[in-house]
Amino acid sequence: DKVYLNGSIVNSGDAKISVFDRGFIFGDGLYEVMVQINGRFFYEKEHLARLQSGLQKINIEFCVSSLKNEIIGLLKAAALSDKDCLLYIQITRGVAPRQHSFPAHIKPTVMMYAVPKVLPEINTINAHVITRNDFRWSRCDIKMTSLLGNVMLNEEAMQYECFETILHRNGVFTEASHSNLFFVKNGVVYTHPADEYILNGITRIVVIELCHSLGIEIKEIPLATEEINTIDEAFLTGTSTQIAAIQKIDNHLLFKGNEKGPVTQRLQEAFLKLK
Ligand code: PLP
Repeated sequence: DKVYLNGSIVNSGDAKISVFDRGFIFGDGLYEVMVQINGRFFYEKEHLARLQSGLQKINIEFCVSSLKNEIIGLLKAAALSDKDCLLYIQITRGVAPRQHSFPAHIKPTVMMYAVPKVLPEINTINAHVITRNDFRWSRCDIKMTSLLGNVMLNEEAMQYECFETILHRNGVFTEASHSNLFFVKNGVVYTHPADEYILNGITRIVVIELCHSLGIEIKEIPLATEEINTIDEAFLTGTSTQIAAIQKIDNHLLFKGNEKGPVTQRLQEAFLKLK
């Protein structure tokens, strides 16, 4: 497997990064994930714009548009040019003696790899999820590599043989460990606003646009935890998840068997047409 590292494409076994890389020492870096479907990256511009805006938020000077040709080269080297695949991009602040504050004049470390990934037309998972307190920090809008909070919260879902952990903070639902969270109540779709408590998912943005174009009322208002037993439908969104219906929240069963809510199904079918 091929890896892009700081301007070169090398075999993954030869891709070496210093132990003093701030990504390794502090998790001081960002990442991005996008998928190629039918020969083009799905919402590539939006993914790269989010990465650029994240870099600005944490003061890493790097021009993401310089990656466009490098991505083409990497896909070619990995024999994935026209294949459905997943691209991972990571940019860290770079290598410097360990000190918390940003060192001056260091070069960011840029790493990318692509792996084959064929997504289903429609996600047929009817997800079981658990609810947990969102104990992550308060800058969840930054897509940083330090995902320990997300990892710990997701691991709990695995222990309960669930697909995801949905999170709440200060009495309202925020998002999930690696996806955004939507509810449907009386025909209205609700999701947490894109503030510092959630990652503003590209799929989230696409789904909000779909609601507008389908004439489905959408409110970027968080659902209170005590309202959980009053909802009609719930679903998750993410680049690999696409749109996944939620079947069960803790012990609260929303749908049986293969059933899912009409709004979720309508959005899944409309989403499919965007690919
Ligand atoms: N929320 C979190 C915490 C995530 O890690 C992700 C994806 O990695 C998302 C939401 C969904 O974002 P996107 O739709 O851009 O993949």
